[in-house]
Amino acid sequence: MFEVKTILVMNLAACLILAVSLSAAISTPLRQSRDGLWLWLASMVVQAAAYSLLLISAASQLVFYHVIAHAVLATFLTLQAAALFQFFGRTLNRWWHFLPAFLVAVLFGLAATSANTLSIFAGVFFGVGYVVMALLASYLGSGMKSAGLRLIVVGYAFGSLAFLVRALPVIVLPDSAGGAQSTTSLLEIGMFMSFGVLILTSVGFLVLQKDRAEDAANQLAVTDPLTGVFNRRTFLELAEKEIARSRRADTPLALVMLDLDHFKVINDRHGHLAGDFVLKRFVEITRFCLRQEDLFVRYGGEEFCVLLPNTTSDEALALAERVRRAVENAAFIFKTGKDEPAIPVTVSAGVAELDRARLEEIGGLVSRADEALYAAKRSGRNRCTASPKAE
Ligand code: GH3
Ligand code: MG
Ligand code: MG
Repeated sequence: MFEVKTILVMNLAACLILAVSLSAAISTPLRQSRDGLWLWLASMVVQAAAYSLLLISAASQLVFYHVIAHAVLATFLTLQAAALFQFFGRTLNRWWHFLPAFLVAVLFGLAATSANTLSIFAGVFFGVGYVVMALLASYLGSGMKSAGLRLIVVGYAFGSLAFLVRALPVIVLPDSAGGAQSTTSLLEIGMFMSFGVLILTSVGFLVLQKDRAEDAANQLAVTDPLTGVFNRRTFLELAEKEIARSRRADTPLALVMLDLDHFKVINDRHGHLAGDFVLKRFVEITRFCLRQEDLFVRYGGEEFCVLLPNTTSDEALALAERVRRAVENAAFIFKTGKDEPAIPVTVSAGVAELDRARLEEIGGLVSRADEALYAAKRSGRNRCTASPKAE
């Protein structure tokens, strides 16, 4: 089929091309250092070095180069493991980079008595190594849905096959001429598969980067960056759906508007950062009072709302009261390093239930909840008021 040397040159070139492509991805502005791209690039360079050594060993027939080449090849796997660790916010102890290379050097050195034993060692060692890499990638990325991750796992599984394929005929047919023949052709097939593995896993790693960047962008588009709750735009989209559902199923839908009392004073007295902290803590406290299906939204500056499916005005008022009390009783301590007095925080709430009989839209619901909120403010703040029920 193909000459082993040709495939080696092809793999070597692919590593270098991928290394150059990765360096282009690294030079993108705002790239985070935690993405593991440098480590992946290093793995390409190391792999290129390993293929160069294999070329030398193929030309010189010297077992020494063969053993060293495989030791270097083992390091490329640990570098990719380190890249995956870094991508998922962990670190791989640097001693791991030496262990497989050391093991390969010793074991292969001992096994270097014949080409067949070397083939078995390489096949089994790297076959198992790739399985470990596939398991590691799926374990580290278990919480993430990403086509890139799937490519990497499939690539490693394929890599394992590529090496096991090489060892198999030597184990099954150790001494026959047929064995030697199929060993040679399977070695070529295995090498050729390694080329595929190289492309699959490296493209997979780049797609993984893209998938995470897209997740972050989507998250940013639907939520408020300070508090992590939905932003107003998302709320208006989702509220339309909830209203349609409420009409279809003929179930109540309520809205609670929440506005922190005298928030401007908090900012003026304790500073803007303390104000931000109060907003975040307020969200934490309120979230604790809500159900999974409730839509929690930052409507504007210090104004939030909660859309409550399957909830009547009375139930919403009871919830608003729970939130109001929880906020009043919570300690808001902004840690500055100096004396840290608790910041007194209270919230007022206005509640309205969707008027399904009059086919009320989101605008009407929001403005009635708003009126109720301002009634609460007028009557002294730190209280909850419900909009009058439809006649
Ligand atoms: P009221 O009880 O009537 O609601 O009074 P208030 O002071 O809470 O309301 P006002 O609308 O006068 O002030 C709201 C303040 O919220 C003004 C604005 O600077 C502040 N604000 C809005 N967004 C943010 C933010 O993201 N961080 C901080 N720290 N302050 C914010
Ligand atoms: Mg306010
Ligand atoms: Mg306000």
